[in-house]
Amino acid sequence: MEKKVLFPRKKTRAVKVGDLVLGGGQPIRIQSMTKVPTRNVAATIRQIKRLTEAGCEIARVACPTEADVKALGKIKSKIAIPLVADIHFNYRFALMAIDEGVDKLRLNPGNIGGEEHVAAVVEKAKRHHIPIRIGVNAGSLEKDLLAKFGRTAEALVASASRHVAILEKLDFRDIVISLKATDVPAMIQAYRLASGQFDYPLHLGVTEAGTLVRGSVYNAIGIGTLLQEGIGDTIRVSLTADPVEEVKTAKMILEALGLRSGVRVISCPTCGRAEVDAAKLAQEVEARAMKLEGPLTIAVMGCVVNGPGEAQGSDFAITGGKKKGILYVNGKQERVVDEEKLVDELFREIRKRKPSHYRCLSAGERKR
Ligand code: SF4
Repeated sequence: MEKKVLFPRKKTRAVKVGDLVLGGGQPIRIQSMTKVPTRNVAATIRQIKRLTEAGCEIARVACPTEADVKALGKIKSKIAIPLVADIHFNYRFALMAIDEGVDKLRLNPGNIGGEEHVAAVVEKAKRHHIPIRIGVNAGSLEKDLLAKFGRTAEALVASASRHVAILEKLDFRDIVISLKATDVPAMIQAYRLASGQFDYPLHLGVTEAGTLVRGSVYNAIGIGTLLQEGIGDTIRVSLTADPVEEVKTAKMILEALGLRSGVRVISCPTCGRAEVDAAKLAQEVEARAMKLEGPLTIAVMGCVVNGPGEAQGSDFAITGGKKKGILYVNGKQERVVDEEKLVDELFREIRKRKPSHYRCLSAGERKR
């Protein structure tokens, strides 16, 4: 079921990143960052391919050494989504990264040496149409700003303003801005202020948000609050976990707000009435639904109390009975199936009726 978009977006300048456009009213893009040394080309490509399959649209890689920067071209040639080089302090690495064919730089112009260095990077970025994301982080604010504002939203925005001013002075406007903090209210406030001050696309994120559950909750609250105010053009969920989990969480945030239609698995919390292992069924369905493309709603319900009602509003549903379950298609009861065969039968039905929702299948396989 397609949801209505309830949260009008604030208009930002359009900035091209490879084949994608950030801002300018374009869809909110999901990005993530690899967690292996970039110079390990095979591992980085493998991770980016897994991210792409999960729905990631932009991949960022860390470039702390020259070997990492020199790996960028090889990585770029084997992946299907835009590649961003994350560079700190070293303007030479930024120049080399552009030569390697990256689609965007993440660097803070105030941290790469004097005006000459910045001018060299900006001139080359302009020539190659490479945007720059200014990534301000509450953990690395300038000393004078910390003294004046403390570790606050105002300090984050003041820091971003300085970096933006350096680029604007050189007539460079292909800019994206992030203002990340671990403190969710500070992060929210910083983006609100930035949204009023700049028209550049905003990259939303809660930095160092934590492990899977805590990090997902903190990101969902920080990013979700801003998105429902119309703020944000691209999101990165930061988790101390497999980056694929970051992409899954990012997709769920967008889906929850109706900003993107995906596969929604509705499942009841189960209770003493359930006579099937509803939690196990829901986990199996959620895992197998990863291969599907939306819009699609699947309900997994423990018993008939709310089962038929949820099945009515879903494309597919299973409702538990006594070691058996009822399979529904488009809200109508299809058949009764033994518990151990329920998930297989559900996906057989989905594949038969909605083959185009299987993004992992080739066109030929979908027709079979
Ligand atoms: S659908 Fe049934 S099993 Fe699930 S929570 Fe409701 S009453 Fe309990």
